Amino acid sequence: MTSLPLIPVSPDAPAARRAAMPPRHLADLDLPARQALVAELGEPAFRAKQMSTHYFGRLVRDPASMTDLPAATRDRLAGELLPTLLTPVRELACDDGATRKALWRLHDGSLVESVLMGYPDRVTVCISSQAGCGMACPFCATGQAGLTRNLSTAEIVDQAVYLAGVAASGAVAGSPPRLSHVVFMGMGEPLANYSRVVAAIRRLVAPAPEGLGLSQRHITVSTVGLVPAIRRLASEDLSVTLALSLHAPDDELRDELVPVNQRWKVAEVLDTAWDYAARTGRRVSIEYAMIKNVNDQPWRADLLGKLLAGRLTHVNLIPLNPTPGSRWDASPKPVEREFVRRLRAAGVSTTVRDTRGREIDGACGQLAATGDRDTETPQEATA
Ligand code: SAH
Repeated sequence: MTSLPLIPVSPDAPAARRAAMPPRHLADLDLPARQALVAELGEPAFRAKQMSTHYFGRLVRDPASMTDLPAATRDRLAGELLPTLLTPVRELACDDGATRKALWRLHDGSLVESVLMGYPDRVTVCISSQAGCGMACPFCATGQAGLTRNLSTAEIVDQAVYLAGVAASGAVAGSPPRLSHVVFMGMGEPLANYSRVVAAIRRLVAPAPEGLGLSQRHITVSTVGLVPAIRRLASEDLSVTLALSLHAPDDELRDELVPVNQRWKVAEVLDTAWDYAARTGRRVSIEYAMIKNVNDQPWRADLLGKLLAGRLTHVNLIPLNPTPGSRWDASPKPVEREFVRRLRAAGVSTTVRDTRGREIDGACGQLAATGDRDTETPQEATA
């Protein structure tokens, strides 16, 4: 527990802003801005709505399929409004096709990943908000490589729209065809790319054709605990679910596991989370990776129970997915069960997260975008 890394924690960090952003896309803009742009391009404003209906309403992105637009117009408008942002490099499936991971190449060569998860009653996508991550949590694969850049609003939204199209094609066996949930639990710290992430949320919840029409309650933003940004999120007219990656109930250990804790301590981040819960009426998820002999002791369960008892919260224990070369392992099942028992005894609602996507390195914290690595895979879906 020595030499804690120093990390930039200001929202919209300047280093990330300098990196090359992708071309403008209709998902960067709200509907009035799309209409203004189309008019500027010398086309009738209603074309903006037509393009938006294809993209968000019908999940169609190929101009050749937009037959209600004259051919010349649609090619020109698609060139201006629907540039290719995500090029699929690899798509992997596991859990009998119920989990699919997509690896994308961005316009500047950066690689990011998203995961599509089908359940009997819902379909969830886990999306990335940054290429890499600057938060340096030592147990997280993404955190090891540092931050490359922020994703644009449209790069964030397009992951969900693209995979909504995959779900709509019936690719997720045993699940409804309609994407219903989005979690910002892929690569990156969403609240360090604040303005673009909030704009992306607005696109995801706006009714079609302006957006994807998801319910705010079905969107979860997961954060290491950037206190000013959580406060700002609470003041938006949004009531998305907040997930706080706590991982330790005491500052000594959390300073190491989640280095941003050196700046905003456990007590302060929890107070901010409770304010968020009060403002939005939404239960805050506490994320806690179970790491063998590191944070899984009975006394830490009791301390966590004391901090959370009586609050509008739910604990998600995540069995640690050991990253390559990691000195850490997942807690043994009996230890995990005892941890759950103690939290529940304290009156705290607690579940253990399923480990979807493990075989395809698509589980929590495994996203590392190692595009060139030669992976032996269960089912390679597309090239
Ligand atoms: N930056 C955001 C989103 C990260 S991923 C955040 O930290 O919340 C979502 C969750 O996966 C976080 O709770 C993160 O701490 C957790 N996670 C990261 N690496 C993990 C690993 N190797 N095993 C289990 N969970 C991990």
